[in-house]
Amino acid sequence: MFRIGFGYDVHRLVPGRALVLGGVQIESRLGLEGHSDADVLTHAVMDALLGAMGKGDIGRHFPDTDPVFGGADSMVLLERVAGWMRDEGLRLNNLDAVVVAEAPKLSPHFPAMLENFSRVLGVAPERINLKATTTEGLGFCGRGEGMAAHAVVSLSGETGRD
Ligand code: MG
Repeated sequence: MFRIGFGYDVHRLVPGRALVLGGVQIESRLGLEGHSDADVLTHAVMDALLGAMGKGDIGRHFPDTDPVFGGADSMVLLERVAGWMRDEGLRLNNLDAVVVAEAPKLSPHFPAMLENFSRVLGVAPERINLKATTTEGLGFCGRGEGMAAHAVVSLSGETGRD
């Protein structure tokens, strides 16, 4: 069995919130607004995994109307999604993701994010690729109003199910 999943997420940037990406808190004047910690990168990764498993999206599993998920650490939610992946007999071949943000510079934080994803997803960091891009000042990301993230995963199963 071989599966591909795609995830996309957007959060608004506001003052007075922490900026958390890939489970790493990054120094920034603005942070991402949301019900959980608003980790836009981890949300895109979770949606890609859920997509590959045919299990809908994070809104279905972790609704933002549920107070349980208020201020939730998205890496903990990712751990749950990774558990479902293992329960399905699937493993992650690779993850590729890009964060769209005008600022701050994210690449210095990639090693720490890689370590988090590698630990939670149970794969070597070499299977994970993180990227960042600006939009050259264009659109909501370019104006610094928000950040977006895209993620693609491939999964395979060794159980012969399907
Ligand atoms: Mg989100």
